[in-house]
Amino acid sequence: LEAISHYLAQRSNMVSSDLSKFCICGGKREVLRHSNSHSSGHEELIGIQQKQLQELKSSFQETKLEVKHAHSNWEEELRRLEHHIKGLEVTSSSYNKVLEENRFLYNQVQDLKGTIRVYCRVRPFLGQSNGQSSVDYIGENGTIMIVNPLKQGKDSRRVFTFNKVFRTNVTQEQIYVDTQPLIRSVLDGYNACIFAYGQTGSGKTYTMSGPDLTTEETWGVNYRALRDLFQISKARVDIIRYEVAVQMIEIYNEQSQLNGLNVPDASLVPVTCTQDVLELMKIGQRNRAVGATALNERSSRSHSVLTVHILGKELASGSILRGCLHLVDLAGSERVDKSEATGERLKEAQHINRSLSALGDVISALAQKSAHVPYRNSKLTQVLQDSLGGQAKTMMFVHINPELNALGETISTLKFAERVASIELGAARSN
Ligand code: ADP
Ligand code: MG
Repeated sequence: LEAISHYLAQRSNMVSSDLSKFCICGGKREVLRHSNSHSSGHEELIGIQQKQLQELKSSFQETKLEVKHAHSNWEEELRRLEHHIKGLEVTSSSYNKVLEENRFLYNQVQDLKGTIRVYCRVRPFLGQSNGQSSVDYIGENGTIMIVNPLKQGKDSRRVFTFNKVFRTNVTQEQIYVDTQPLIRSVLDGYNACIFAYGQTGSGKTYTMSGPDLTTEETWGVNYRALRDLFQISKARVDIIRYEVAVQMIEIYNEQSQLNGLNVPDASLVPVTCTQDVLELMKIGQRNRAVGATALNERSSRSHSVLTVHILGKELASGSILRGCLHLVDLAGSERVDKSEATGERLKEAQHINRSLSALGDVISALAQKSAHVPYRNSKLTQVLQDSLGGQAKTMMFVHINPELNALGETISTLKFAERVASIELGAARSN
């Protein structure tokens, strides 16, 4: 590639757009070098790199078309290089170095996409109710238009923009797809937070846990993330030995407590497969000394945080890496009417409001790259401090209920999400 770009830059009279194509190819030389130097048996890496190689080849093809007439020897030169690419074998054992470089490149890509991403999910109408919807349309490019039939003219519609907006018929798999790179990143030693935000009944738990744990197809983000985490860590077993431990915390009225598990607050439970985690969740639910209805009630008024800690030891160097993934099913974001709520209920509502707005403040301070990030304002942001900001990645799924009677909450959810997302969207959406 280097030869080609030199060759052409010197000899042809390419216009500048052609030259910039070559800059792209120049960048991909990095990737090519990687493909040349990782050791065998690491399908996962090979997979990525082969994909990159494929991209490289197709960018070759494009370049070829554009500069076909630049020089008569071009085709021959290209064939020679293509042959060279095909001949590249996965031989080197300097895996650590590759991993290091991979992390670096990966992070660059992630940075381009933005470290804070916001996705909106619209849940379907439930059961019989298929009345009027507050969602006017969902665009292809991350836009959603909300309509208020009680208003007239331009005041009746409002458009919000996010990284993506999912339609009601989306599958759990489609919801999860963009989370996968974050899991890889955690195993590379970074921290990440995934949030589900929305009013009670809008589908937060459906997204995070799923409606039914017995079939993998309906699994939510939590279990898919753990499944992939174990899968990737197994694929790396010859290079890095990972230990995984989970912790479940419930933050209720600004106090954290272990989620029903009869163990001291700080305890981490070691796990070796997704099944372990599923079992743990079941125990957690059983141990809760409340009935199902009360549980639902309560879960809508507390933040539930499933934290996955990973510790990896690189066998060759002996160095240790740590990563952390927080999966957070937030308390319902609905506002409580002060004239109606009293006592406990009012206190809960105030705590929830305070912690959700503290979360919004932290994320938007990070998105704006402010010097001061107000982590101390709530228990939730304190617990997550190490995983919000810096090199950590944040993803938020905001949920809306399309029914017209939820319009007020829908608008305030979308405004919250917009505040959290808007700053970085320019960079994210150009990807
Ligand atoms: P939340 O956790 O926000 O209170 P839930 O996830 O419990 O809301 O969802 C409320 C109800 O709506 C549940 O009965 C759930 O099964 C259903 N539901 C939520 N999202 C979807 C979806 N995407 N598809 C089908 N049903 C959904
Ligand atoms: Mg819930």
